[in-house]
Amino acid sequence: MTINRYIAPASGLLLVACSGGQDRPNVIYVFPDQFRNQALGFWNGEEYAEHVGWKADPVHTPNLDRFADESLVFSRAVSTCPLSSPYRGMFLTGMYPERSGVTLNCMALRPESTLNPDAECISDVFAANGYSCGYIGKLHAETPMKNDPANPGHYVSDRDPEWDAYTPPERRHGFSYWYSYGTFDVHKNPHYWDTDGVRHDPGEYSVKHETDKAIEFLRNQNGERKAGAPFLLALAYNPPHSPYESLDDCMEEDYNLYKDKSLSELYVRPNADTTLSKADAIRYYFANVTGVDREFGRLLDELKALGLDKNTIVVFTSDHGETMCSQGTTDPKNSIYTESFNVPFIIRYPGKIAHRIDSTLLSTTDIMPTVLALAGLGDKIPDTAEGRDLSPVMLQDGRPCDVPEAALYIRNLDGPKDENGMVHGIFPEARGIKTQRYSMEIAIGKDFSLKRVLIFDDLEDPYQINNIPYRENPELFRELCGVLAGKLKESDDIWSREGILEKILENNQ
Ligand code: CA
Repeated sequence: MTINRYIAPASGLLLVACSGGQDRPNVIYVFPDQFRNQALGFWNGEEYAEHVGWKADPVHTPNLDRFADESLVFSRAVSTCPLSSPYRGMFLTGMYPERSGVTLNCMALRPESTLNPDAECISDVFAANGYSCGYIGKLHAETPMKNDPANPGHYVSDRDPEWDAYTPPERRHGFSYWYSYGTFDVHKNPHYWDTDGVRHDPGEYSVKHETDKAIEFLRNQNGERKAGAPFLLALAYNPPHSPYESLDDCMEEDYNLYKDKSLSELYVRPNADTTLSKADAIRYYFANVTGVDREFGRLLDELKALGLDKNTIVVFTSDHGETMCSQGTTDPKNSIYTESFNVPFIIRYPGKIAHRIDSTLLSTTDIMPTVLALAGLGDKIPDTAEGRDLSPVMLQDGRPCDVPEAALYIRNLDGPKDENGMVHGIFPEARGIKTQRYSMEIAIGKDFSLKRVLIFDDLEDPYQINNIPYRENPELFRELCGVLAGKLKESDDIWSREGILEKILENNQ
């Protein structure tokens, strides 16, 4: 069942179609890594709390709280395949991992998992329509190659296997300003390759440094962008990604906000196991959340000071969440648990998008078509994009919108390895869905037999403590499998093409 909730007479908010290139809005897309939706203080606020049913983490996020009050805030946005690289492939292309090319986290032993160089990315479309596009921070969407600009024929480091990567100009998909790297997790000693392939080692907290570079881009301080042209700026902070073990991983002023709090004060989610060895990490995780908040606030202040805020769409989101001892798992991501799967998605577009909280199940593939449409480029959305244009939901401008009844969840693991340890293909370990009420994940063993089913009633059980046994609830299981089958078919997923779900259901009647 699809509910067209947003068919309504055009309201006064209806925007006038943009005519020339310079009238188009700028877009700033900020996405720290591993920033869970729960780590936003405003969710405890009166207006917000009833929309989620869980308590927010006890974090200090004053800038994001203010930003939310000026923005459209999604309560149930998800990261379809909650891992760094597959997320980035989906965000950039609007395609599911099998088509974007990025099926697994990119590293040298997984050469097949890499952004398809021919894919038409969001930045390709913006660049082709007069935008100056800049990318700052973590890319992690390409297999590392032996193309170190300072040491041709070698990887960028001697790590074995290599994870980090340099992206040469021909693989930058329309981004004409570049200050980026593949993946590297030393938050206070980051490095970057610039537009010309020159490496920089600034020796300071990456979130601050990247914000400084973003501010230079906004000011067009060194000719970072074409003067007078609209711009797209993607800003990919690595924190609050791990490591989060010491003051080497965050700023002390941020850590001081949490250092004297007990674990029982810091862990407000009743599904958390604070006996896990990871438990103390929460202080450093929250310190990085606050560090991101402060720098994001500085970026917004600069945007306003430059008079650019009114005509700029600003998105704050993340590539996935962080379980942080919830559900007893040590894996921070790559699961359907809400701490991993549910991500912030906060979008501000002054005068065009009204402030409210929306429960639409926005998926990662929807971002590219939606953002292009918001910028007036709806007719330029590539045919290859597989997500939905949800701009009518955001603008409430009376256009009909096929609002999704469910969001797909994908978990892939390594396929077979050859004698050199190189990974070939994927093993599609789990698929699942989230509806407005339920989450369901079905995992299979290597012989493709049913391994585990998780079903949670997210309305009655927002901390997902009680797994509803599928055998004792066959009607609910059948209904959710029907929804899953539809999403698998719609996304041309390997589970649909290979009949994996059908076989599971046949064998478990
Ligand atoms: Ca990540």
